[in-house]
Amino acid sequence: MPATYWRTKGEFDTLRPVETFPLLFDLGSRKPTTRDVANVVRTGGTAALTEAERRADQARYQEVACRSALNRVKGMPFEWTLNPYRGCTHGCHYCYARRYHAQFEMNADDEFASVILVKKNFVEVLTRELARPAWTGEYVAVGTATDCYQPIEGHYKLTRGALAALLKARNPTGIVTKGPMIVRDRDLLIDLSRVTTCTVCISVPTVDEHAWETLEPGTAPPLKRLRAVRELVDAGIHAGVLMNPLVPAFSTSLGKVERTIKAIADHGARFVGCNVMFLEAGTRTHFIGFLAREFPAMVPRFEKLYVNKYAPKEYRKQIQGMVRLLQQRYGIGSDRYDDAERDPRSVETEPEQVGFAW
Ligand code: SF4
Repeated sequence: MPATYWRTKGEFDTLRPVETFPLLFDLGSRKPTTRDVANVVRTGGTAALTEAERRADQARYQEVACRSALNRVKGMPFEWTLNPYRGCTHGCHYCYARRYHAQFEMNADDEFASVILVKKNFVEVLTRELARPAWTGEYVAVGTATDCYQPIEGHYKLTRGALAALLKARNPTGIVTKGPMIVRDRDLLIDLSRVTTCTVCISVPTVDEHAWETLEPGTAPPLKRLRAVRELVDAGIHAGVLMNPLVPAFSTSLGKVERTIKAIADHGARFVGCNVMFLEAGTRTHFIGFLAREFPAMVPRFEKLYVNKYAPKEYRKQIQGMVRLLQQRYGIGSDRYDDAERDPRSVETEPEQVGFAW
């Protein structure tokens, strides 16, 4: 049974009884683990995370203790990833990481973008792991599951701490983000680039304002992200753009793709890669729900296009061919990023052909 605590609420300090679950309070100074959080949420929903702090962006942030920082992954072009936060206030409707929130008993809709887990001890755990004799300095990809430069990074600086640890270990590093805040860490990225492999991938699927506002409600404007690319490249860092994902009907027209690639070229990106959106379990439900609310007429077409997780191979080939041609036209490609090697979002299995072209 939940215990009842008294706490103050609001400006006038009105005392009111709050049903909460004792687990988080019984841990003393120890932060809960993600498993503790999942147990609490399973019983009482996210309302039971009474230690979670609400900040100016209206998201709630729950500090947790992680047991490991380096996360081994399978089926990716690299074996290790780092994600200091779980959940992402950028709230992109197509985000494939939405479904991961289910691991913490939270939903892939609002809770993915509004209840963020912060791994408070992330940097010290990573530092220990990188110092282990068994660690062989394999490539580590930062920010693959949720954005490592979402706004709360300005407060916790966990990504910055992780980069400092990777620099100290001279560990090959890649970063994927939509957050222009990455320029804050230019000093570390310059030093990393001097001693090892360091690749920065800024995600800018499109410069089309409508598609951006509609699909990526919490992110910085695309041109602000491209200015970050320019700053990093000018500082000598290997930085480029991933147009991931291109979303059928929203950002795949020739005109929109050409404007985007021209803007990417104008900002000096060292490489560009792209992929067409894919929809997995939790993300699919969220995305179709979003369409049903905002663009109901589109639902049947998306359901036809996404009979499977991936859009049909022929369709993806058409889009990727168009991007390649435009890359050549605008001169991005000689130092092209090999997205099959580094981009986790480029990993695909063969989809079934459904013979549909948008
Ligand atoms: S910024 Fe990345 S991790 Fe965050 S919601 Fe968008 S796609 Fe997902």
